[in-house]
Amino acid sequence: MAELERFHLTIGGEPAQARSGATFESQNPYTGRPWAMVPDGGPEDVDAAVEAARAALTGEWASLTGFARAALLRRLGDLVTRDAERLATLEVYDSGKLYREMLGQLRGLGTWFHYFAGLADKLEGRQIPSPNPDYLVYTRKEPVGVVAAITPWNSPLLLMTWKLAPALAAGCTVVVKPSEHSPAATLAFGDLVAEAGFPPGVVNVVAGLSRETGARLASHPGVDKVAFTGSTATGRAVARAAADNLSAVTLELGGKSPQVVFPDADLKAAANGVIAGVFAATGQTCMAGSRLIVHADVHDELVRLVAERASAIRLGDPFDPETEMGPVANAPQYEKVLGYLDTARDEGATVACGGGAAELGGLFVRPTVLTGVGPGSTIVREEVFGPVLSALTFSGEDEAIALANDTRFGLAGAVWTKDVHRAHRVAARIRAGSVWINAYRVVAPSVPFGGFQSSGLGRENGIDAINAYTEDKAVWVELTGGTRDPFTLG
Ligand code: NAD
Repeated sequence: MAELERFHLTIGGEPAQARSGATFESQNPYTGRPWAMVPDGGPEDVDAAVEAARAALTGEWASLTGFARAALLRRLGDLVTRDAERLATLEVYDSGKLYREMLGQLRGLGTWFHYFAGLADKLEGRQIPSPNPDYLVYTRKEPVGVVAAITPWNSPLLLMTWKLAPALAAGCTVVVKPSEHSPAATLAFGDLVAEAGFPPGVVNVVAGLSRETGARLASHPGVDKVAFTGSTATGRAVARAAADNLSAVTLELGGKSPQVVFPDADLKAAANGVIAGVFAATGQTCMAGSRLIVHADVHDELVRLVAERASAIRLGDPFDPETEMGPVANAPQYEKVLGYLDTARDEGATVACGGGAAELGGLFVRPTVLTGVGPGSTIVREEVFGPVLSALTFSGEDEAIALANDTRFGLAGAVWTKDVHRAHRVAARIRAGSVWINAYRVVAPSVPFGGFQSSGLGRENGIDAINAYTEDKAVWVELTGGTRDPFTLG
């Protein structure tokens, strides 16, 4: 058997093994074999990383200007771009996602670092008018402190960057905890931070096999803010842990996003958008458009178009440029997706295409389109996080909106129509953090992303995202130099 590639934690600017000496193997979901050996960081490693991050908060890092932080962030972005091929390869080994998708994602990641670098030197306080002329009042934007960035397995470096870049721009220090299912690229990224010239301890990376490692970090009293992306269930646990410390929290959670297609839509474009929304990345994206809500007049035609294309999706080796869909990223997720398909059939769903495992070996599931489901069906209500689309029909606009909003989630959605009035009207009524009109699955560093309801708390990306990593401090300056009555406020 080929030798396993070895990775290390980064704590206080130094490569580190787990203090316990324990390691775990990371599996390649395509080959079904372990490919990497990873330190199994536990509570004591989390404690050391938080301690290093706290120490770094008051060290050299604190004395750097926003301009200096911006320069470091730009350099880090350039290094990620330089190493995009290697980092994308590591992500593919860990998650089975397509190499060409991950390479595109990694090559685009530098833009995020550059965008937030552009904010680092523009963090301004304000002079505030005081009702008492004897005072000058101004505010300072200060870093919130130590940030815990906890990420899922589906796009490890992208989702880390959405947290790390604004946190560093604001002057915070960070402990990153990648998923136990895909830790490698994040661990490798730790080396780039040192190469870019960040002072030791500003960015620390700890991976661990047990979910206790993340739990320890989320509940650590030395953490000032938790930035989490993952499932809604874990998000709740993270929010509870953060509440005990009254630490700030942003949560990017799951979704069950609607694709609403009106009869006047360009059906070919809609079919393409529906495919992109639910089958790209094997459906393992938080913003997957997994509920098709289509007008009854065009239901059969659209389902036929989508099912035809879905049946032709080429499954296979994520490194083969011809492959369109890789395996499901890990065995528990594979079992979960197949379980949902069994439940859907038991509840009376009709399989328009796919419907089960693909006979390719490995963790492949066929792209699946289900009809004959209702708003109460399990497959319509729960996040599958796999290549499964459920189709519902409507006949009027109000009904379409009621169906679109009949969910506890609210991450994303789309409306497909050529009627400009209807497009904006419906976009306004869909309760979700992102709505695309005649498009799907586009994100950018400048555009806020996050969820309504059970899909999350707060927003990542965009200018305002940096506010989640800053505290406003009000400074009052007495101008007269005189002695005031100690018993009168103001
Ligand atoms: P998960 O919730 O199982 O794990 C996410 C991370 O939390 C992992 O690093 C895990 O080790 C850690 N963790 C586990 N228990 C913890 C605890 N008690 N306290 C703190 N951390 C803990 O999620 P996953 O299965 O890795 O990812 C899939 C989920 O992520 C899906 O629900 C998906 O919708 C969601 N997701 C959301 C977005 C978004 O931006 N909204 C993006 C990608 C994925």
